[in-house]
Amino acid sequence: MVKVMAVNAGSSSLKFQLINMPSEEVITSGLVERIGQEVGNFVIKVNGEKIQTQTPIPDHQVAVDLLLNALVDHHIVESLEEIDAVGHRVVHGGEDFDDSVVVDEEAVKKVADLSELAPLHNPANIIGYKAFKEALPDHVGHVFVFDTAFHQTLDKERYLYPLPLEYYTDLKVRKYGAHGTSHKYVSQQAIEMLGNPKESRIIVCHLGNGASVSAVQDGKCIDTSMGFTPLAGVMMGTRSGDLDPAIIEFIANKENKTASEVLNILNKESGVYGLSGVSSDFRDVKAARAEGNKVAAAALDAYAYRVAKYIGAYTAAMNGVDAIAFTAGLGENDDITRKAICEYLGYLGTELDEVKNDVHGETAIISTDDSKVTLLCVPTNEELMIARDTVALVK
Ligand code: ADP
Repeated sequence: MVKVMAVNAGSSSLKFQLINMPSEEVITSGLVERIGQEVGNFVIKVNGEKIQTQTPIPDHQVAVDLLLNALVDHHIVESLEEIDAVGHRVVHGGEDFDDSVVVDEEAVKKVADLSELAPLHNPANIIGYKAFKEALPDHVGHVFVFDTAFHQTLDKERYLYPLPLEYYTDLKVRKYGAHGTSHKYVSQQAIEMLGNPKESRIIVCHLGNGASVSAVQDGKCIDTSMGFTPLAGVMMGTRSGDLDPAIIEFIANKENKTASEVLNILNKESGVYGLSGVSSDFRDVKAARAEGNKVAAAALDAYAYRVAKYIGAYTAAMNGVDAIAFTAGLGENDDITRKAICEYLGYLGTELDEVKNDVHGETAIISTDDSKVTLLCVPTNEELMIARDTVALVK
């Protein structure tokens, strides 16, 4: 048995799960947030109960020390020696990383160099790594798990944008995708649920606050909806997803804004939030629809339509589809949205079982026995995927 810490460090927060491997039992989990603010917040689960501490947490090193001390103080581990490895989520691996790697100086440098592509995330991911490296004994193995790596199998004609080629060769402008750890985990689960066939065509719909759809053929990602940045693809909670790029200049000129200001609107004030004017949280928008808000209803219809359109596109990309898996906040929990999406899929011989679809946050087949395509609800588990990759590499 080894204990692996799966870490997701952001600029002001740090989420963690300590997992026993290979049993995959979660020993504890929690988060540190508001790092660098006047009062930080630390939550850790002890025997299933959440213990919350509010205290100043000036930087990530303090956050990591706080969390590691809490593990010992609450007897979750008897000493830090019990932690064998740490897996760190890294948002952008560019073209340098097509798989998880054991961290060395070169990997840290490459991740730092990629910060241009993920300025909010990669620097924070490195800070998180350094804090754990500093706090834990030297023999502890560290692994970087990249959110883009799973999408590195895309063929050139799929990841290139139809722009002058030098923007790719000189500036590395291309599709990278995101949510890769989730797409990898969920597609593996789906393949298992299909009985591990030799050939498989899976479409994964990761529908959370951010949303992306991917096409996974024989276990390899062949296309994904997010692009050079997570702004592309389906409509999301606050992001527009795909749109005519000329809109950016048009709005900028009309409203006297810069391109970055318009992009900020596309990232933070658009999507279901922008169209509904209600909220970025689908629960609120659904509640508004239930009260007769027609604008909210139209926003949700637009959302389901756009997800269905990607499913159609990826079915074409794979010349068919064996399973469609729904995951993340909305995909796992929202039977009504799943149904709305599946209503577009009758032409595939897809039949949603309305009784089986009444499932929330659990792994289940939600199609009828006769359905030509297996519909699945699969809770994502990025931490477990990180732990699996970490164990595989540090052994
Ligand atoms: P992220 O990790 O991108 O922040 P999550 O995967 O946690 O997002 O998903 C969060 C979103 O899931 C919320 O915006 C919420 O609208 C949606 N969600 C969660 N539970 C439900 C539910 N029961 N019905 C509809 N939407 C839900």
